[in-house]
Amino acid sequence: MTALQPARGTHDFIGEEQRRFHRVTEVARRVAATYGFDEWMTPIFEDTGVFARTLGETSDVVTKEMYTFDDRGGESITLRPEGTAGVCRALVSNGMTQSLPQKVFYAGPMFRYERPQKGRFRQFHQIGTELIGPAEPLADAEVIACGWDILKALGVADNTVLELNTLGDRESRDAYRDALVGYFAAHRAGLSEDSLNRLERNPMRILDSKDDADRRIVAGAPTIAAYLTEPASAFYKKLQDQLVRFRVPFTENPRIVRGLDYYGHTAFEFVTTKLGSQGTVMAGGRYDGLVAEMGGPVTPAVGWAAGIERLSMLMEAAPSAPSSVAVIPVGDAAEAVAIDILQALRSNGIRAEIAYRGNLKRRMERANKTGARAAVILGDDDIAAGVAQVKDLTSGTQDAVPFSHIPSRLR
Ligand code: ATP
Ligand code: MG
Repeated sequence: MTALQPARGTHDFIGEEQRRFHRVTEVARRVAATYGFDEWMTPIFEDTGVFARTLGETSDVVTKEMYTFDDRGGESITLRPEGTAGVCRALVSNGMTQSLPQKVFYAGPMFRYERPQKGRFRQFHQIGTELIGPAEPLADAEVIACGWDILKALGVADNTVLELNTLGDRESRDAYRDALVGYFAAHRAGLSEDSLNRLERNPMRILDSKDDADRRIVAGAPTIAAYLTEPASAFYKKLQDQLVRFRVPFTENPRIVRGLDYYGHTAFEFVTTKLGSQGTVMAGGRYDGLVAEMGGPVTPAVGWAAGIERLSMLMEAAPSAPSSVAVIPVGDAAEAVAIDILQALRSNGIRAEIAYRGNLKRRMERANKTGARAAVILGDDDIAAGVAQVKDLTSGTQDAVPFSHIPSRLR
């Protein structure tokens, strides 16, 4: 029989990979907590409407990437492709739209039917924050500062740059859209089929195209700057001032539009040159219209999401493998005492293991091989005297320690 393989675009996290993954999630959770974000867990699948209605009919995610299927009861279900829609749905379903602001952190798997490559999977994982309620640019600045602090805490900030843009308010976008339609219509012949489609429905999304021919045309497209209303440019100016105050360095990039349709005003990406074409590690912006799309009241909000796999790949030093204390009984009588000592170590928070078989020599070999930091050796004479030989496997020193002192000695 041929051995079973993981489904295309999925992978197993084992050993160093799992430790990196865990580090990213823990660091992000801890830093986000210092900003006052509380963790929410929303379901991994939702009714398809939660995504199809809100992410935008023309977004790549909705048109090409969603894992959608009918369940056994005939309901259309979608595995979540991103986290924001579920958080906003939860805000509305739990009647929390009147208790704002809500500051949400989340971490978990997302699913997109994509062509797998380095840094791009079908099941991938994100951390994210959402700050729901405030309309002030201070909220945008704070959310971005939180993201930047996480990148710093992970040691990847030196390799990433914050690229910032504004998508303006509705009026700015309408004026800009007309300008874009004029420009792209004149270059219709060179555009990809996807972009011709976008030209009809949402021309701003052409700016985000990954098609090479599209990109050459996009390079000459007008930018939004000339179309911003007075309030929209004041918002953008204020955000930039506050990022300076938060000490978050950034550069402006007028091509950033974000992949999903519900964004306005702030759009940003933290990008790196170290991951090839999968260079965006963290991305977000302001989405004042989404909660209303979910059937709630109009509610301003801003947030970001980051790919855990991409952050793990960027992190230079892998967290080290944990090392145990090996408890080694010599003889049958010693095994009973070994169990007491094992449990005393564990209840003191010390990682302790026992080999299930083998003589002293074999067990010592195994302890060394698995990188144990110490061995607690229990022979008959020692047990009679109420002590064990505690050997430091790094320095090689060994001495007799009374049973009750072993945990404090090894902590
Ligand atoms: P891309 O342009 O790389 O397709 P996107 O615009 O689709 O990204 P977002 O929806 O903004 O990505 O998701 C936020 C982050 O999640 C990305 O910046 C990236 O780090 C990560 N991400 C998105 N899709 C994948 C994937 N298929 N595999 C791994 N990470 C992903
Ligand atoms: Mg994508």
